[in-house]
Order: sequence, then C-alpha cells, then structure tokens
Amino acid sequence: MIDSHCHLDDPHFSKDLEHILLRAQQSGVQHFIIPGVQHGQWSAQQALAAQYPNISNAFGIHPWYCNQHDDLHFEQLEKLLPHAIAVGECGLDFMPNRPAHHIQTACFQKQIELAIQFDLPLIIHSVKSADQVTAQLRLQPQIRGVIHGFSGSLQQAKTFIKLGFYIGIGTRLLQHQGQRSNALLHELSLDSILLETDAPDGLGKQQRNEPANLLDVAQRLATIRGIPLESVQQQCTKNTKELFSL
Ligand SMILES: [Zn+2]
Repeated sequence: MIDSHCHLDDPHFSKDLEHILLRAQQSGVQHFIIPGVQHGQWSAQQALAAQYPNISNAFGIHPWYCNQHDDLHFEQLEKLLPHAIAVGECGLDFMPNRPAHHIQTACFQKQIELAIQFDLPLIIHSVKSADQVTAQLRLQPQIRGVIHGFSGSLQQAKTFIKLGFYIGIGTRLLQHQGQRSNALLHELSLDSILLETDAPDGLGKQQRNEPANLLDVAQRLATIRGIPLESVQQQCTKNTKELFSL
C-alpha cells in the first residue's frame, strides 16, 4: 500500500522515524507521499526523499500558513516543483481563526496555476469550503488531484470526482463510525479512493498517528463494502500510482 498523505517530516517523527517506517512496512505500507505545508519544511522533506527511495514529495503551501508566504517563497516553490509528484497541500480552510479568505483564495489560485504549468496533480485541503474549492477548480477543466482527508457528503464527493479528483480516505473516518460516513464509504466507487493517514494528525490531539495505521483504514473500507481486504489494497494502490505517476 501507499500512504498517499503523511507528514513524515513533522518533528513528532524526528526521534524514531526508522521505527515508524519499519512498523509501516510490517503493515504492508511500502511507499509514502509527504505533502508540503510551508517553506520552512521544504528542505527537511528534500532530505528525507534523498535518504529513502520510497518517500516522494509534494511541495506547496497549506491554507493555514498562506499569510506567511510572499513572492520569494513562490519563486522557491517553483524551483522545487520539477522534483515533486504533486502541488500541495493547498486549498481553503474556512474554520474560524484561519487566515483571511481572500488571502487563502489567492494562495490556492497561484498553486492551481503552478500545477497546470508543471502538469502536476493537486493535493487539496478543504474544510468548510467545498463550494468555494469546487468553484475555483471548475475554471480549470484540465486539473486533477485528490481531496485529502475527505469529510463531506456523498454528493460533494461525486462533484469532486466529476471534476477529475480522487477522494482521500483516512483515519479520521475510523473515528466517525456514523451512518453518514458508512454510507459514503459504501457508495463511493473504489476506483476514486486513495488511502491516507495524515500522520501524525488524524487520530485526535492526544494520539500520534502513523502510516502503519493505513491497514486499519483499508480493513474498515473492506468490511463496510463486504469485499476482501486485498481488493481494497490493490485498487487504492493502483489509483495512487495513476494519479501521482509513481
Ligand atoms: Zn496534511
């Protein structure tokens, strides 16, 4: 399996990364995609990819940090993108106390344009912003990517799929064992799903998440759909390879 979204460059992993990678391997997770969140972490990501051949990088600016970036950072980002498998994670987060909406929108728009320029997929973070994200994506019919950590409705998921996007399903769904998420996991077409952990996040504030938990996500998906675990693993790995040209 491939963890399509894990922040292995996060300081929470600096002390025991070897261990984390070993446990992941024992759970059948062989490859890791690290999305970028802000310029201060880009060099740490590069160092990891240089050390481990099974780590691939995306570079981008997360909506939480978009007000800490100026034109120079965008120039730096542009230089990194030839070494990236995607642009992101970028997008819109309209929870309270986030950067102003117009700043987020501009930062997202620039990254959409970079994705087109470099012919790369987008890794999108969308919270309380599905309509606004959809509106920006609709203007660029050639764009493709993944809506990571999806937590919206089945209808919203279908809209994103129609726009050429995969739906990132992660450990958060293990915590919401509600009817709505079960219906979503049951109805979504398997060839539109990518598996992710979003480690070290994704299990609430108290607990550090890690890529080994991807197996639990795949298992829950298989149980809800009533299909073998291997079918979920194979199809989602294929989807991830296709999207990121791995
Ligand atoms: Zn993330």
